[in-house]
Amino acid sequence: MKIAFIGLGNMGGGMAANLVKAGHEVRAFDLADAALTAARESGCSTFPDAKEAVVGVDAVVSMLPNGAIVKAVYADDVIGHAPQGAVFLDCSTIDVASARDVIAQAEAGGYAMVDAPVSGGIAAANGGTLTFMVGGTDEAFTRAKPILEAMGKAVIHAGQAGNGQAAKICNNMLLGIHMIGTCEAFTMAQKLGLDPQTFYDISSVSSGQCWSMTSYCPLPGVGPQSPADNGYQGGFATGLMLKDLKLAMDAAATAGVDPKMGARAKELYEAFDAAGNSTVDFSGIIRTMGEG
Ligand code: NAD
Repeated sequence: MKIAFIGLGNMGGGMAANLVKAGHEVRAFDLADAALTAARESGCSTFPDAKEAVVGVDAVVSMLPNGAIVKAVYADDVIGHAPQGAVFLDCSTIDVASARDVIAQAEAGGYAMVDAPVSGGIAAANGGTLTFMVGGTDEAFTRAKPILEAMGKAVIHAGQAGNGQAAKICNNMLLGIHMIGTCEAFTMAQKLGLDPQTFYDISSVSSGQCWSMTSYCPLPGVGPQSPADNGYQGGFATGLMLKDLKLAMDAAATAGVDPKMGARAKELYEAFDAAGNSTVDFSGIIRTMGEG
């Protein structure tokens, strides 16, 4: 297939490289020269703007920073410029309303489109082991699936347009909440005189068990290898967690729900981010705990 790829940053670079490895012809565009140079090194051809990149393609994949950029790129450079009948896959994490808006515009222009945000970070993008949660019609999903399978290990249809984004932000709101809870539990256990490994041995097979504990323990030397063992570097950056929590709170307001734990998690990550920790792994928030 001929696939245009727009936005080859930390995530998109590795994803585009995996499409090349799967035998696709990838036509890349990014605003940053460094991203284009890296894309050429991984076998993509590069173009001076998105309009040129989408000429003659079967599909367009995008991995961009936010909803405003996604809307502008599709409205200005993709819809009406890609061949009629092409399928579009936006893998960025953006707000549900923008995702639905862009898909409606694409459909009005005669294209199929899915929102397909990912779970998994840069290592999973490079390794082709992302999980995609996909919103869109059955037809759009069926067409997008083989392309997503070249970049990930799991591709799940979440329902109508925007549902991929809805799944992503609900999941990440829960992740923010249970990471903070896990950090609090370990901090308190230690203050009460429990050895952290002993607490892990008990809680990891008891009802407090959760992913933040058993797959991503925020304490160094406890549980499997995690960013805590690497000075809280190289995992899921606090700035990205905060982005997702803000999207979750916006979506909650639109949906008329009031998730109090999600709102508190957002406040705590906002403070941690503002204290200069935007690039620190989100489990590093444990460092702020323990003082009365
Ligand atoms: P990034 O900043 O490294 O990459 C974004 C790229 O988009 C940059 O190279 C930038 O130059 C390019 N870009 C911006 N505006 C553009 C435009 N108008 N046209 C073309 N290119 C443009 O960000 P990232 O870490 O790769 O994240 C991309 C998306 O993936 C975000 O929505 C993010 O929330 C999501 N995400 C990231 C991670 C992660 O661990 N980094 C994990 C899951 C999801």
